Amino acid sequence: MERLVEIEKFSADEESVETSLRPDAWSEYIGQEQIKKNLGVFIQASKQRSEALDHVLFFGPPGLGKTTLALIIANEMQCNIKVTTAPMIEKSGDLAALLTNLEEGDILFIDEIHRLSPAVEEILYSSMEDFRIDIIIGSGPAAQTVKIDLPRFTLIGATTRAGMLSNPLRDRFGMSFRMQFYSSDELAKIVHQASLKLHKEIKHEASLEIAKRSRGTPRIALRLLRRVRDFADVANENHIAHARTQYALNELGINSHGFDEMDLRLLNLLVSANGRAMGLSTIAAALSEDEGTVEDVLEPYLIANGYLQRTAKGRKATRMTYEVLNISLPTDEGVTIL
Ligand code: ADP
Repeated sequence: MERLVEIEKFSADEESVETSLRPDAWSEYIGQEQIKKNLGVFIQASKQRSEALDHVLFFGPPGLGKTTLALIIANEMQCNIKVTTAPMIEKSGDLAALLTNLEEGDILFIDEIHRLSPAVEEILYSSMEDFRIDIIIGSGPAAQTVKIDLPRFTLIGATTRAGMLSNPLRDRFGMSFRMQFYSSDELAKIVHQASLKLHKEIKHEASLEIAKRSRGTPRIALRLLRRVRDFADVANENHIAHARTQYALNELGINSHGFDEMDLRLLNLLVSANGRAMGLSTIAAALSEDEGTVEDVLEPYLIANGYLQRTAKGRKATRMTYEVLNISLPTDEGVTIL
């Protein structure tokens, strides 16, 4: 079954819908106020000095607006942006080709930057710091090093796993920003704004209902909006009403905490440990997911909202988890639930 609160993009088709709903100006980019404020200052300063912006790193769970921010920065800086993702840059030559095609002031956006291979990362260091790359041509005794000067460009990196980034790479970013989950009010505004672009009016309570069930994530809110719009269209309603939204979301199996089936499986699993901590590898095996997905996609929202606790011994359910699942707290000796 399609996982509606899945945060990663599903398909090229979805990507094209996302593109059409993507804000392209600051005014349409809702929330993340502190990041917007700081970036605004740095952008203005580099424009005044007619310099390229310093390298920027965004980190945080998927779907929170990292790519969108990079596109807005390019718009503000009035420069070109080349968007790519680390797994696409397999060899040093791939990166060299990208870098040598940039023009002065251009932005290179690399998503999932923690997935670069060490050889590619090595080349990135000198290009970020000295705007120069050394390429080795040929092999063995005949090998030659060719130095290529690069234009002053800005690298914008995005990662879901700040911890996986090597220190030398992290240190070469002049600014790094941690993305926050969105409040329901912010998500409701994002939903309202997107509904205008979709030419389908939505009632305020309906946007708020979608917002509350979106795991604090714009990508999910927009996906739910599109599905709820389908229900309204089929019912021949010219706007999206609260009742239709509730009906649609319930039909889709999205509960009022924004948990989906996967979240519930994880929380039930933790609760079944009777207050004891459970290791990441055990959780991943029980859910048939890889550890990275559990850590980057499932856990951050549950932790941010107090439903899961990471301890030295592993993961534990919290008091709130027992409450929402309607399960009584374990009374075993030596077990404490926070
Ligand atoms: P990420 O790169 O972090 O995975 P994206 O930038 O691709 O996330 O954002 C996913 C979708 O959510 C985009 O289609 C964008 O339209 C929307 N979105 C993200 N952040 C915002 C925001 N702050 N305001 C409005 N829409 C947003």
